[in-house]
Amino acid sequence: MNILVLNCGSSSLKFQIIETDLKKIEKNEDKQLAKGLIERIGSQALVTLQADGAPPVKHAAPLRDHRSALDHIIKWIISDDSKIPNIQSLADIHAIGHRVVHGAERFTNSTIITDAVIRGIEDCIDLAPLHNPANLKGILAAREVFGPGVPQVAVFDTSFHATMPETSFLYAIPYQLYRRHKIRRYGFHGTSHRYVAFRYRQLTGKSREETNIITLHLGNGCSACAIKHGSSFDTSMGLSPLEGLVMGTRGGDLDPAVIEFLVHKEGMSMVEIDNLLNKQSGLLGISGLTNDMRDLLAEAHEHQDRRAMLAINIFVQRAKKYIGAYLAEMNGADGLVFTGGIGENAAPIRQLICDNMQWLGIEIDEKVNAEMVGGKEGDISTKKSRVKVFVIPTNEELLIARDTARCVLSTPETK
Ligand code: ADP
Repeated sequence: MNILVLNCGSSSLKFQIIETDLKKIEKNEDKQLAKGLIERIGSQALVTLQADGAPPVKHAAPLRDHRSALDHIIKWIISDDSKIPNIQSLADIHAIGHRVVHGAERFTNSTIITDAVIRGIEDCIDLAPLHNPANLKGILAAREVFGPGVPQVAVFDTSFHATMPETSFLYAIPYQLYRRHKIRRYGFHGTSHRYVAFRYRQLTGKSREETNIITLHLGNGCSACAIKHGSSFDTSMGLSPLEGLVMGTRGGDLDPAVIEFLVHKEGMSMVEIDNLLNKQSGLLGISGLTNDMRDLLAEAHEHQDRRAMLAINIFVQRAKKYIGAYLAEMNGADGLVFTGGIGENAAPIRQLICDNMQWLGIEIDEKVNAEMVGGKEGDISTKKSRVKVFVIPTNEELLIARDTARCVLSTPETK
């Protein structure tokens, strides 16, 4: 079956069409037929579309909302110009899979979207005010375009972490606040952590039970996950994606007293503080230059820019801290997996994170590491390394397509 995977942000829409079914999942023979991205929805949008095996096509179009963006994509998908294999009309799209950021405690698995599920996703808006409304826009637009005959499935960023024990997910604040408002750690990037854990099992031939690893998703947003017996045991993001590692524009862990201090010293409002912590902190905040790791590495290397180097070093030290914590929580791990834009491409960052960790059993091969970039997948550790270190490019869209196929054909998630 052909699955349209949609990932809607507040002003963006990413999509892929993936051909998959239970047999293809089993044999790893799913196929990406097309992909694309629309940015700056609401004004003159930038559109990039690409059918499998063809070069990308880029243009601008006035697209006022997610519905017009989806119409635009559909028009291209079914046009003769697109030349997408096996797709001639709307009827050739058999199901739609949506990325949904927050499923709270209510959604612990991917699920077919019904009216009740839509209400449930709306109920989670409080917890993800920046993300869930955009995801809902995509769901409602797809319902209008495809009608009730085409099943839609929601795949949640939080659901992989539903297996975390209370000792990992509760904050040490009065317990009744958890009872009353469900204030707890949820974790995000679940689809990515789950995908790379699954690939790790394929690459190493380990069973789910034998999978005891730490996964580091280092992109613009960054999170670490301790995976014990194949399930999420602990993760670095919390109630929201603000907690944990240093990220592009988020600072991660912070003493909450800083917030009150800012209110008094800078006269900032909560909205301003929220913006400061989400958009102006992290690599950007420390360097004062950029949130882009490529540019920071260039600045540090070519100009020895002090604050660029400081941002990199703080980023690296925080990652080390979480690796150490998770090794302690899990009584060691067999593997460490890097993924995300930085994890997959920034060899110097992987090197810095893994430097001086021999005592913990982590040692990577400098040359192999330097070459493992640009979408390559493999083991970068030395023979001596007790913890095997892998680079595994993430593929959240593939997992969303697979979950969609499995929900539609009603079989449980396994891979
Ligand atoms: P998102 O979290 O938005 O999906 P990505 O996973 O694409 O983001 O990661 C974006 C980050 O990856 C940026 O900081 C970018 O600089 C970094 N990155 C991408 N390619 C490279 C590279 N070749 N070297 C260093 N960093 C890179």
